[in-house]
Amino acid sequence: MSVLVTGGAGFIGRHLVTRLLSEGNRVYVVDDFSTGVRGLLPSHSRLTVLEADVIEPLSIPARVDRIFHLACPASPPHYQADPVRTFRTGVWGTFNVLELARATKARVLLASTSEVYGDPHQHPQRESYWGHVNPWGVRSCYDEGKRGGETLAHDFRLQYEVDVRVARIFNTYGPGMRLDDGRVISNFLYAAIHEEPLTIYGDGTQTRSFCYVDDLVSGLLALMEVPGAPEHPVNLGNPQEFTMNELAHQIDDLCGPQVRTHHRLPEDDPSQRRPDISLAQELLHWHPVVGLREGLGRTFDALRSTALSGPRRERS
Ligand code: NAD
Repeated sequence: MSVLVTGGAGFIGRHLVTRLLSEGNRVYVVDDFSTGVRGLLPSHSRLTVLEADVIEPLSIPARVDRIFHLACPASPPHYQADPVRTFRTGVWGTFNVLELARATKARVLLASTSEVYGDPHQHPQRESYWGHVNPWGVRSCYDEGKRGGETLAHDFRLQYEVDVRVARIFNTYGPGMRLDDGRVISNFLYAAIHEEPLTIYGDGTQTRSFCYVDDLVSGLLALMEVPGAPEHPVNLGNPQEFTMNELAHQIDDLCGPQVRTHHRLPEDDPSQRRPDISLAQELLHWHPVVGLREGLGRTFDALRSTALSGPRRERS
C-alpha cells in the first residue's frame, strides 16, 4: 500500500515508518521538522520525505491509501513554546489532512491523546468519558487542539463519509525519544545518565501508565486495518499504572540508587492516568506485551548509547 505519515520524523512516527517499510509499503512522510529529526529517518528506496507544514493545505505527489496523522508537538515544553501554533496544528492541521482524505478517499487515522480526558474524574478512563479539561491554561492549546481535531474527525465521517479512526494515545516511551522532551521517563533517564538527582513533582503519588513504543505502533496498525471504522475513538496505552515514586524505584533498580529532589506540581498536571483498553482488546484483539521493566531497560540502553540529549529543558 501507499501510506502517508504526517509527523513521520517524530518519535512515534519514525517507529511507525520503519514498521511500514519493513512490511513492504510505499511511505510518504510530511513533516516540518520542528521537533522531528530528518536525519533519523531511515534511507529507503520506498520512502519519500517531504518538508511541509500541515497547517497549510497538503499536496502529495501520488495517491495514498492510508494516512496516519501524527503531526503535532507532543511534549509540554515543545507544545507550550508556541501555543497558538500548537492549537492551529491540532485543528487546522487535522482539517487539512481530512480534506486530503476526502478528496482522495484515503483512510485516515488521527493520533489523539489521553490529554482529552484532562485531569480525569473517572478512573480508569474509558472512551465514553467526556473529560475534565481546563480550556484556559498552559496545557489547553494541546488538549483543546486535539479535542477540536477529534470533533472534525467525527464530522468529516458523518458529513462526508470519510473513513476515519481516532486513537487516544496514552504516554508512550522507548528508544528514540528525546531526552529533552520534559516528560517523566526522559527526565528520569536523563538524570540517571548525567548523574543528577531525579526530580519528583509534588509528593510523587500521581500516577501514569506507560506504553512501550513497539506496542503502540502495533495498536495503531491494528486500528488502521480493522474492517469497518470503529464508531468511537479507541484508547491505546498500557493499563499498568505506576506512581512517580514507583517509577523512580524502577530507575534505581535499573541504574543504581538515585538521589531525589522535590518540586511543586506544574499547573493542571493530571493526578492519575490509566487507560481502560477493553475496547481495543475487543475490536482489535490488541494489548501491550512489553512490561515497564523490560521497556525501560531497552530505552535506557538506546538513549545512553545515542545520547539524543540536546539542551536540558525543565518540565512544565
Ligand atoms: P514528536 O514531537 O516526536 O513528533 C511530532 C512530529 O510532528 C515531529 O516530527 C514534528 O516535527 C512534526 N510536526 C509538528 N508540527 C507540525 C506541523 N505543523 N506540520 C508538520 N509537521 C509537524 O511527538 P510524538 O511523541 O512522536 O507524537 C506523535 C503524535 O502522537 C502527536 O500527534 C502526539 O500528540 C500523539 N501522542 C503522543 C504521545 C506520546 O506519549 N508520545 C501521547 C499521546 C499522543
